[in-house]
Amino acid sequence: MSSLLITGISELTTVDVEARVLGDAAVVIEAETIKWIGSAKAAPTTDRRVDIGGRAMLPGWVDSHSHLVFAGDRAAEFVARMAGEPYAAGGIAVTVDATRTVGADQLRELVETRVWEALLGGTTCMETKTGYGLDVEHERQAAMLAEEFVDEVTFLGAHVVPDGISADDYVDLVCAEMLSAVAPHAGWIDVFCETGAFDVDQSRRVLEAGRAAGLGLRVHGNQLGHSGGVALAVEMGAASVDHCNYLSEGDIAALAQSDTVATVLPACDLSTRAPFAPARQLLDAGASIAIASNCNPGTSYTSSMNFCVATAVLQMGLTLDEAVAAATRGGARALRRSDVGQIAVGSRADLHVLDAPSATHLAYRPGMPLSWAVWRAGVPYGIEIPGH
Ligand SMILES: [Zn+2]
Repeated sequence: MSSLLITGISELTTVDVEARVLGDAAVVIEAETIKWIGSAKAAPTTDRRVDIGGRAMLPGWVDSHSHLVFAGDRAAEFVARMAGEPYAAGGIAVTVDATRTVGADQLRELVETRVWEALLGGTTCMETKTGYGLDVEHERQAAMLAEEFVDEVTFLGAHVVPDGISADDYVDLVCAEMLSAVAPHAGWIDVFCETGAFDVDQSRRVLEAGRAAGLGLRVHGNQLGHSGGVALAVEMGAASVDHCNYLSEGDIAALAQSDTVATVLPACDLSTRAPFAPARQLLDAGASIAIASNCNPGTSYTSSMNFCVATAVLQMGLTLDEAVAAATRGGARALRRSDVGQIAVGSRADLHVLDAPSATHLAYRPGMPLSWAVWRAGVPYGIEIPGH
């Protein structure tokens, strides 16, 4: 099995326990696993080696919240929102129409392109959701497509109530026939617990049905108001509750005492001109946080985790180390994974090299094309390895 020594690492952010940083570091990977970390001087002999020329390395991003299976865009809605109209959950229906009518091959190409874009931006582990099918067959197809391209698939049949059916009848469908069709292709179930989508009781039914089918739990909660989604997620032991823009003191305390990760979505907050989720207060209270892209055509049409991390530092009051940890190890925790989100011996070889001497440049030079090379499960992208 071929081993590779990577040297020329000016700064290694391992996020192993903390955002630990080693100077003049080296990393050895073998097949898809990290085998050794240490000072370049002490590096073991390997089959091949590559020098990355004095650049910073950090774990690949773990994007624990995205909606990549869609067609069309919502640029007109975005323009209207920037002109002062508020965001409402109903815009999802526009994307449902476009996604149901596009051809299967074209949808596949769209998803593949989006995953590729994310990878080249440093994202090496990705979750994505269904939720633009909203009938049994389209939801099943979306999950099957997602599982071809991403690490973690979430069933979000309970995204919004489609036209022509009552909310309670639709929840019945989601919890029975739709869940049975999608569950073989998903690891998670999620629900949009919000005014205009699903109330707390309906959301609880969805989560209970998902749990009975063997799926892990995720919740879209407290994005547009005090929806009760955070309390429900904590009550049910969900792995993550995402958005968290409107939190009471009680919500923050409950999150801090739970294993539920509060996932904040800085690009979404920015794109909807919403108040930023209180990431600083959550961390200060002792809650676990993750940063994710929420890439979707309505409220956050970007998969750039570099951008999300910069925004979290510049607008949410996090330090660079806190933001990097939330976008790597935090994302992994939100997906209940311990094999990604850190540079540690035994972890998956998911590495992100910046065209910069330190990770600080992510926030210091916002918007610049800093992702220089990526390894995902030991496979390099954007860099030539001699003899590879
Ligand atoms: Zn979302």
